[in-house]
Amino acid sequence: MNVLFASSEIYPYAKSGGLADVCDALPDALKNHVNISRVMPLYGFMKRQGLKFYDSCTVTLGGIDYNIEIFSKKKDNIVTYFIEAPILSTTQYLYGDKDGDYANNDLRFGIFCMAIVELSSRLKIEVLHLNDWHTALAALFVKESNLKIKTVFTIHNLAYQGIFDESSLDRLSINRKHFNADALEFYAKVNFMKAGIAYSDHVTTVSPTYAKEILTKEFGCGLDGFLTYHKEKLSGILNGINDNIFNPSTDKALYFTYNKDSLEKKHKNKVSFIKKSKLKDPRKVLFVMITRLVEQKGIDLLVESIKDLLAKRINFFVLGDGNAEVCEKLHILSQEHDNFEFFDGYDDTLSHQTYAAADFLLMPSKFEPCGLNQFIAMRYGTVPIVHAVGGLRDSVHEDKQECGRGILLKKQTKKEFLFAAEKAIRLKKESEKLKSIIKFNMECDLSFRSSALEYLKLYKSFV
Ligand code: ADP
Repeated sequence: MNVLFASSEIYPYAKSGGLADVCDALPDALKNHVNISRVMPLYGFMKRQGLKFYDSCTVTLGGIDYNIEIFSKKKDNIVTYFIEAPILSTTQYLYGDKDGDYANNDLRFGIFCMAIVELSSRLKIEVLHLNDWHTALAALFVKESNLKIKTVFTIHNLAYQGIFDESSLDRLSINRKHFNADALEFYAKVNFMKAGIAYSDHVTTVSPTYAKEILTKEFGCGLDGFLTYHKEKLSGILNGINDNIFNPSTDKALYFTYNKDSLEKKHKNKVSFIKKSKLKDPRKVLFVMITRLVEQKGIDLLVESIKDLLAKRINFFVLGDGNAEVCEKLHILSQEHDNFEFFDGYDDTLSHQTYAAADFLLMPSKFEPCGLNQFIAMRYGTVPIVHAVGGLRDSVHEDKQECGRGILLKKQTKKEFLFAAEKAIRLKKESEKLKSIIKFNMECDLSFRSSALEYLKLYKSFV
């Protein structure tokens, strides 16, 4: 079976968050079962070295011809195709810069979607797997073509829908018959995510709990009614991680590699990490957060609770990028408190070192489609403290029986947050109990292996 997996970001080529990790890990887990290849944009900041020219084509949108070149690269037995096109490929970032999202993202990703369909036709694709709004229009373009391709659309985060002015329709040559409440129209605007939901043969999202939550007003981001209408073709499949990339026993980013039987080396990572930072005393419990600093991740709660947290005998390290106002607040707090350090930015190597050094990872997310940080933390023997919502509810348990284990905030409140931190501090003192949780988590299968079989079943149901 020929499957093409399409995304706006794939690790290690371009990454802004968990989507890139999933688009690495899931095809990797599927590659021994189906003939899977991947496609993504070739952005301006990406290296061209090592890419092979594959083919070229021209797509016409809004009466303008766009010449497209397709490159390919084979790595770890998977071919990835890269779309180089005017407008799409000239940017230095994926979606926007410090001034906000690029104004022509509708056209950028509209061109990308046309290219995906052109490539699918050349590769004789049977199942096209689309991910998030950047690829959603491809579901509509497939339906409008005479190609016999089945489409799966995965929602990684419903909060980002790709909403543009009505004028997009003409720029993208989209027939106005699709501009109604049953299709692309959303409060007089054009909503790309709705195209993925309406025109795909199946819609998945990244955890069973989130699949239920998005049918409610609280989590539905205005699409709960629309999703409920399509719920017969909606399912939730839990994400996983690539446990070769996130592997503390081989990870080159770490000061010391380790496994569940050499946890003293995890401690050595903590000592080195603390030494390199302004924090003092590695005997103190080390809490960390590694995150985009956006409302979703519970930043309001963090700002509200941080002084009380720092009043405890702990160290706290935040690696994050995003909201400028929050960054400013965290910088000031870091100057005021010896036991708090804030690294403002995105840093892959530092993130791995942080997972390895930490005792506890905080994830007080307001909502969380799945989340990957908790899996990575568990793999590195760091206990996650999470708000029991979305995929966090499906992947972190206080119950011994289930994989994996952590501390849950039942509600996303300051009281619960500080209570969970206290619980963690107590747990750190019970070293045998903590060690058994760490070992248990490090033995869990947190990979995509079992979820990949669910995707496989879905693909097979089409052909
Ligand atoms: P998101 O909603 O951001 O996609 P996920 O939990 O699904 O959240 O995935 C986040 C991924 O991005 C993880 O691999 C995490 O380690 C990484 N990450 C988040 N913020 C940073 C950062 N500032 N620096 C490095 N890596 C980060």
